[in-house]
Amino acid sequence: MTERNYKEQMVADRRWLHAHPEDGWNEFETTYFIVKRLEELGLKALAGIEVIEPKAVMGRNEEAAEAAQQRAREHGVPEEFLKRLGGYTGAMAVLETGRPGPVTAIRVDIDCLPIEETTSPEHEANQGHYRSEYPGFSHACGHDGHTAVGLGVAAWLADHKDSLNGTVKVLFQPAEEGVRGAAAMAAKGIVDDVDWFAGAHIGCGAYLGQVGVSHHGYLATTKFDLEYEGIQAAAGSPEKGRSALMCAAATCMSLGSLPGHSQGITRVQIGKLISGVGRNIVAPHAYMQLEVRGESTEINDYMAANVEMTVKGMAAAYGVQYRLTRMGEAVTYKGDEEAVEAVKTSAASVPGVESVVDMNAKVGSEDCTMLIRRVQEHGGKAAFFYYGCNHPGHHRGDFCIQDEVSLPIGWGVFTNFIKSRNA
Ligand SMILES: [Zn+2]
Repeated sequence: MTERNYKEQMVADRRWLHAHPEDGWNEFETTYFIVKRLEELGLKALAGIEVIEPKAVMGRNEEAAEAAQQRAREHGVPEEFLKRLGGYTGAMAVLETGRPGPVTAIRVDIDCLPIEETTSPEHEANQGHYRSEYPGFSHACGHDGHTAVGLGVAAWLADHKDSLNGTVKVLFQPAEEGVRGAAAMAAKGIVDDVDWFAGAHIGCGAYLGQVGVSHHGYLATTKFDLEYEGIQAAAGSPEKGRSALMCAAATCMSLGSLPGHSQGITRVQIGKLISGVGRNIVAPHAYMQLEVRGESTEINDYMAANVEMTVKGMAAAYGVQYRLTRMGEAVTYKGDEEAVEAVKTSAASVPGVESVVDMNAKVGSEDCTMLIRRVQEHGGKAAFFYYGCNHPGHHRGDFCIQDEVSLPIGWGVFTNFIKSRNA
């Protein structure tokens, strides 16, 4: 197979995935697409419950997962395959060469966002006729490209299995958005034997032709759902009720004025609050979505502990019940110099790469850090990089990636990295 074939396959795969976007924990068609291909390539493929630890799953909605499985069935995903997944998405390719050598893993994420894709005729997906077929959902962060690159790497592994040593794994991680999926893959233990690990994201601060290599970065974060349960009553007899709405409002003000931390950046955001029945009714329920971030894992833990303390106190003050649920979690990233240097060298010789620069993200969060931490805890070395594209900003309906140019670059860095460890 020539490199040209990889590119054509990746672009075709990416466009199919783009047209069929599925959000976190609902990627059943996507998982089937991946596993079917891996098996066609003759690679060992694990999927669903085989790569996910259910006890560590965060932010999964059972009803949404049920509906997504139903749609997958209607779209031809075999019942037997859905049964094998056990209700969970995600996959992993494994190449065991049988020859001594290191265990190397790369990770891509596969989920989309609940964002309506633009109808603008200028938009790449509209020009190429592969616009999202699922209203309200689109691959507005490029994870369709990531998945296609992962499959491209898998195809390359299958073609080069006789000239590689050790073991190579390709992780297809579900539910990156909301930093929900990586913890459950890490908890399954599937990266515990990994000596070398690389993860990547398309775009971000890197323009087309640029590869950004990351030494450190990302804020640690914890995402919470919070529910208050009060007692409904008529406004004329307020002593008979307990207002979840008032408690939620007071919680917002309290959390908004949490003190920061002397050792680094902190963030707190209450992004959503739903409450109330009507004008003259004491509101019995409130539902909130909130998050905290910190420049280090310790600072984020401090913020998360403050949330728990505040919520408990507010519930007591207003006499309501509460349920605080962790919906997602990511830690900070600190790359291992040896792995980071290997990625840098790998990038330099990829056709189409104009520059390789250091790129250390200070603000966002990315749950690949959970897998990286697990690898490092077990003595492995890890790195994270960006392969560029020209885009108007992530998480927008007009996000675009110039797949014909950008994907071969990501693929080139990954395959060179694997070659440098396992050839
Ligand atoms: Zn993303």
